[in-house]
Formats: sequence, structure tokens, C-alpha cells
Amino acid sequence: MERINPATGESLDPIEADDDAAVEDALADAESAFVEWRGVPITERQALVEDAASVLRENEEEYAALMTEEMGKPLDSARAEVEKCAWVCEYYAERAAEHLQDERVGSEAKAETFVSYEPLGPVLAVMPWNFPFWQVFRFAAPHLTAGNVGLLKHASNVPGCARAIEEVFREAGYPEGVFQSLLVGSDAVAEVIADERVKAVTLTGSERAGRSVAADAGAELKKTVLELGGSDPFVVLDDADVAAAAATGTIARTLNSGQSCIAAKRFVVHTDVYDEFVEAFVAEMEALTVGDPTDSGTDVGPQARADLLDTLHDQVERSVEAGATVETGGEPLDRQGFFYPPTVLTDVPADAAVATEEVFGPVAAVFAVDDEAEAIAVANDTNLGLGGSVWTEDVARGKRVARRIDSGAVFVNELTKSDPRLPFGGIGDSGYGRELGRDGIREFVNRKTVWVQDAEPPEDGPATE
Ligand code: NAP
Repeated sequence: MERINPATGESLDPIEADDDAAVEDALADAESAFVEWRGVPITERQALVEDAASVLRENEEEYAALMTEEMGKPLDSARAEVEKCAWVCEYYAERAAEHLQDERVGSEAKAETFVSYEPLGPVLAVMPWNFPFWQVFRFAAPHLTAGNVGLLKHASNVPGCARAIEEVFREAGYPEGVFQSLLVGSDAVAEVIADERVKAVTLTGSERAGRSVAADAGAELKKTVLELGGSDPFVVLDDADVAAAAATGTIARTLNSGQSCIAAKRFVVHTDVYDEFVEAFVAEMEALTVGDPTDSGTDVGPQARADLLDTLHDQVERSVEAGATVETGGEPLDRQGFFYPPTVLTDVPADAAVATEEVFGPVAAVFAVDDEAEAIAVANDTNLGLGGSVWTEDVARGKRVARRIDSGAVFVNELTKSDPRLPFGGIGDSGYGRELGRDGIREFVNRKTVWVQDAEPPEDGPATE
């Protein structure tokens, strides 16, 4: 698999892809590992996921450097990503049994009835390159702890990360076959989904890939979770703290060099504060340091691949042709590597590319609205529905507007972020299902109803196998 350092455009050592025989071996190992793994007490699985957190922390520098080399993430955020992976492991080390304990549900006087949450088997995880560790741990920490086994098909530009993640679980002491990486391209996915040993599929990635995986899994009647793209609104109302909104909006748009599904992409600003916001926002965007992702002062690194940079610039050019005004940025940087500057577009027509397509880079589209109702209408003018952010000094108003935004999450006076304790996922073309929290760990389990006639509930309360 070819790897290119996006900060320099230079090739890294390629990594050999898995052939058909290796994939077959992995599927066989996954099936046999599941037989044992599902019988391991959850307390032991929790201890192992805690050990995975320790391995992550011990090797933080190595993993962070690998991410930066393969996909260009600034090193400081790569370190923070490793730390967040350790956090999600620790969260499920502490809470998995509680989230999966039997639920007693009263029915008839002479029966004991409860729901038990049992693992499904090997789950295929198709993952993207943008948070190459976090996306995988967000899947693996809950679902391995629930007793499933994992098969990772990572994005083709981060095979080194895929291999390193496999090593984390090995070093933590997981049994062979419980977590394996398949180093294959997307053309191999349909066959793996069709394999009867694979019981479910989760994909984090583009809408196009999501439709394809959902169709393949649907044909096999296999459960899917899809975490797809976003075009999140960032709504600045007339009573907002404009300086705070501009500062946080800048981070929300440019985090991970703009390559985040929950980045703020469409800035919807009340006309009363529009000029003040645009001036402050442009100043904040221009103050960012774009450059070598290994430098500690860098805010925005390169885009992860040359084709992604081309797509981003094409979206900007088409939007400008449609009538948008470039307030700052707007041209790829004239230097080695795939760099695009923080860019702000105003006067954006509703049908322009940056309004209707997901923009996966540091390019913000700003829209002016006259009142709260129009703000909500513009915020909801998308088929995607992942996150959103609302800025107002009036908390009751913030909650009211939050409830009317059609998305899987809305944050008031904060940027949209994921948190192991809270469910995460989208609606509409952003996908379905949830990751993280209690909802996440319950996605790939059999919610089994058990009815025991003429039995009293045990006195020691609910159990977890
Ligand atoms: P992508 O091109 O869809 O790739 C994601 C993964 O899907 C890769 O492993 C890719 O493999 C695979 N893939 C692509 N086409 C496929 C197909 N037809 N069948 C099966 N697998 C296929 O997305 P990306 O460019 O890596 O990631 C960016 C996208 O992910 C954005 O849309 C972003 O919003 C979304 N995302 C969503 C979330 C969320 O939580 N909702 C989080 C992060 C990213 P190859 O690399 O081998 O092509």
C-alpha cells in the first residue's frame, strides 16, 4: 500500500497488502476467537481494555508521530488523539458491565423476565484516515468489551496506523484473533461483508462509501452502523458573545486541518452582529499558523492527500464562480506538500458547492440571516445532520434553537465534539446508529428476551455474564 507524507509529498516505505489467503486466515481466526472470547467474563475483558489504555499512553510519541507522518495531523493534536483513545478505553473499562447488565422487565407474576445483551460475533469496521486512531478505538473499546471480535479495514493511506493499532491489542494481552487488521482496499469489502462469519458492519466515512456498504450488508441482512459526513451549522444569534463565537468557530472549522466530520462548516450569522463577527472571524483565521505539522506552533497542517486538496480547491472555485466572495485564503499554498490556507467565503449562494457539499478542509462559508426562524431554516438546509452549534447569551433560547436543529447533536456556546460518555452519530445522510456511551455499546449486541416460568427474580439483583 502506497504511503505519501502529505507535508512533503514524498513517498514513505510502502506496506504490503494482505492477499486473499491472509484475509481467509483472518476470518477463520476471528470465528474461532469469538467462541472463546464471548465466554470470557466481562470483568476480564474490562481489565484488558484498561491495559490497552496503558499501552497507548506508553507509546504515545510513537503513535502520534506515525499519524502525523501518514496523514499530516499536527503532532500536538496527534498526541491528544492518543490520549482520547486511552480515555475511551478507560471509560468502557469502568462502565461496560453496567451498560450491559441484564435488565429485569416485569411481566407476569409467575415468571422471571429480563433482557440480556449478548455479543454478535466478528464485526467488520471500515474506517477513515482523518482520526486514524480515535475512529478505531471508538469502535473497538466498546465492542470488544461487549464480547465481539473486531476486523478492521482501515483507509488505504494509513496502513501503518492500522498495523500499530493491531499491535496495541496484542501488547495489551488480548487473545489472538480478537482484533485483526485486514490490509485491503475498498474493492475487497463487499466480499468480506458477504462472508457468513462476519455478523455486522460499521463504517465511518463518506456518504458514498456508506451507501455502498449499507447496500452490501442489506443484501446479507446484516446490521450496520454508519457514521458519515457532516455539514454542521454554527449559528451566531444577535445576542451572542461575538468574540467568543469567532474564536471558537475558528477552532471548530480548522481542527484537524479542517478534516473533521463534526467541523463547523456553515456559519449562520444574524445580520445585527454579522459585520462584527466576520471581521473577528477573518482575523482569527488569518492568525493561525499553517505549516510543518511536526512544529509545535503549527495550527493547520497539510490536507491528507493531493486529491483531497484538489477537491477542496475545486469547491472553492465553483463557489466563487457562483458568486461567493473570498474574505481570506482561497488558493493552495505555493509550497511543497498539500497545504490550503484557512479560507472564509461570504455572499455564498444557497446552491453553491460550499453550501450544498461537505467541505473537508479549512474553508468556512458564512451566511447572513435576519432572525432566529431564518437561522434555523438555513441551519437545516442540508441532507446531512451530524452536529451543530448555537451561540446566544440566553440559555433558554439556546436550548430552544438546539431542539429545532435537525442533527444528532447540538452544542450551545461550545463547539461540537465527541465524548466517550455521550452518544454520537447522525441522522439523514449523515448515517444512523450511535457510537460511544451506553447507546454505542448496545449497537452490536443481541438484546435477548429471556422468560423463565415459575421463577422468582434472584435476590442479588441483575447479572452480567
Ligand atoms: P471514504 O473515502 O468514504 O473512506 C472511508 C473508508 O471507507 C476507507 O477505509 C475506504 O477505503 C472505505 N471505502 C471507500 N469507498 C468504499 C466502498 N465503496 N465500499 C467499501 N468501503 C469503501 O472517506 P474518507 O475520505 O476516508 O473520510 C472522510 C469522510 O468520513 C468524510 O465524509 C467525513 O465526514 C466522514 N467521517 C465521518 C465521521 C462520523 O463520525 N460521522 C467521522 C470521521 C469521518 P479506502 O481508503 O481503501 O478507499
